[in-house]
Amino acid sequence: APVIVWLRNDFRLRDHPALNAAVAAGSPVIPLYILDDETPGQWALGGASRWWLGKTIEAFARDIAARGGKLILRRGAVARELARVVEETGATAVYFMRGYEPSVAALEDQLKLAFDDMGVAFKRYGGRLLRTPEETRTKAGGAYQVFTPFWRAFTKDLTLPRALAAPDRIKAPSRTPKSDDLRDWQLSPSKPDWSRGLAKAWQPGESGARARLAEFTKTGLATYAIDRNQLDRDGTSRLSPHLAFGEISPAACWRAAADAARGKSANDQSIETFMRELVWREFSYSLLFHFPKLPEEPLRREFAEFPWLGDAGQLKAWQRGKTGYPIVDAGMRELWATGYMHNRARMIVASFLVKHLLIPWTAGEACFWDTLVDADLANNSASWQWVAGCGADAAPYFRIFNPVLQGEKFDPNGDYVRRWVPELAGLTADAIHKPWTAKPESLAQAGVVLGKSYPRPLVEHAYARVRALQAYEQIKATP
Ligand code: FAD
Repeated sequence: APVIVWLRNDFRLRDHPALNAAVAAGSPVIPLYILDDETPGQWALGGASRWWLGKTIEAFARDIAARGGKLILRRGAVARELARVVEETGATAVYFMRGYEPSVAALEDQLKLAFDDMGVAFKRYGGRLLRTPEETRTKAGGAYQVFTPFWRAFTKDLTLPRALAAPDRIKAPSRTPKSDDLRDWQLSPSKPDWSRGLAKAWQPGESGARARLAEFTKTGLATYAIDRNQLDRDGTSRLSPHLAFGEISPAACWRAAADAARGKSANDQSIETFMRELVWREFSYSLLFHFPKLPEEPLRREFAEFPWLGDAGQLKAWQRGKTGYPIVDAGMRELWATGYMHNRARMIVASFLVKHLLIPWTAGEACFWDTLVDADLANNSASWQWVAGCGADAAPYFRIFNPVLQGEKFDPNGDYVRRWVPELAGLTADAIHKPWTAKPESLAQAGVVLGKSYPRPLVEHAYARVRALQAYEQIKATP
C-alpha cells in the first residue's frame, strides 16, 4: 500500500526525513500538497508567497517526476482532503515534516487522533528547524526571552540532523490519484501583473536555493559580519525565502558555514555571525511555540494599551514608499519590486511605522505578510514585536531610529536610495537622505520638486520622537 508524503513548507528532496523514510519503506510514494484557504484560525498565504508557491511547486513537481514520481495537488480544508486521498488510494501511512505554527501544530494533533482511529500511521519528522523548541528550554522549562542565553543553550551539544541525500527513485503507485492543475490555482497575479520584478530577482526551487547557498559561502560569507548591515552592498545570503519554503534545510546552511570555518581561526566573526542569524530564526520559532498568540498580541502586556494613532492615509503612504524619508521609501519600494527587503531596511521602516507614525505593529506585520516572499509567521511576528519594543529581547522603546542618520550610516553614498527611489537619483550624497535641506538650485539641478516629484516628510523627526516618547510614558504609567 502507498505511503503519502504530505508536504507543506518543505519543497526539497535532500534532507527530507519524511520523504526519505517513505522511500526507504519500499512502498509506492504519493507526494501530496494541499492548498488550504478554508481552515479557520490560520494565516492564509499572502500574495507574494502565493507567487513563490506556484514557482516552487513547478520546480518540485519536475524534480519528483525526474525520479519517476508524481506530485499530487489538491485544494481545500486539509483534514478533509487528506482523508480523501487516504481513502482513494488505500494508503496506510502519512509521513510529514513537523510544523510549529500554532494552528498547524493543533491541526497535526487533531489529524493524529483521526488517523489513529482509521488505523493509518501518521508520522511526523523533524527537519524544519535545527532543534525542536522542546530541546531548548530554560531550567524552569519555559521559553528563553533573551537571545544570548538561548544561543548558549542552543549551541551547547548541538548535534545536527543527519544529512540525507535526495532519493534516486520515487516509486509511483500503480494508480495515481487525481490532481489539480496548478494553473487553475492562479497563484501568479495577472491583472495587474506585479510579479516581473520578483521573477527577475529570484529562482524559486531547490536548485535555486542550493545555488544561492553555494554562491554565498564562496563570495559573501567571509565578509558577512560587516557587509550584512550595509544597504548598498549585497552582503547577506538571501536564503530567507528558500528557507521559508523549505527548499533548503537550515542544517544544510549550518553545515556549509561549519565547513567554511574549518581551517580558519577559531572564532571567525563572519561565520559565527551568520550562524547566530540562523539561530535567531530558531529563537523566533521557540517564541511562537511557547507564545502561540505572538502574531496577534504583544508579549509585553502593557503594550496592549498603547495609544496608537493609526492614520489610514499615513499607512498607505508608508506602504507605497511615499513617506518623504528616502531611506524608508527605498526599503518599501525594494519590497514592492522584489518581494524582499534588506534586514537593516526592515528595521528602519518598521520603526518608522510604529514610532514615527504611531501605527500598530500588527498593521505592518500584515503588510509584510502579504508582500514578502520570505513571509514566515515566526520570524515576522517576533521581528515586528522586537522593533516595536513589545517583544522578546526587544530594542528598548525609547531608542528611536533617526531615519536620516540611519540612511547616512548604512547607505553613505545614497546608492540604495538611488536604486529604489530613482526620482532622487540626481541628488548628491550629502542631500540624498534629507532632500528638504538641499539648496533650491541643487534640487532644481537634480530635477526634484519637493511636494510634487517627491513628497515632503509625513512627520518631522524631532516632533515625532517626542510624541512617541510621550505615548510610551502613558503605558509605562499603567500599573
Ligand atoms: P541573512 O542575513 O543571510 O541570514 C540568514 C538567515 O538567517 C535568513 O535567511 C533567516 O532565515 C535568518 N535570519 C536572519 N536574520 C534574522 C532575524 N532577525 N530574525 C530571524 N531570522 C533571521 N525574516 C523572515 O525570514 N521572514 C519574515 O517574515 C521576516 N520578517 C521580518 C520583519 C521585520 C520587521 C524585521 C525587522 C525582520 C524580519 N525578518 C524576517 C528577519 C530578517 O530581516 C530576514 O530573515 C533577512 O533579512 C533575510 O535575508 P537573508 O536571507 O539575506 O538573511
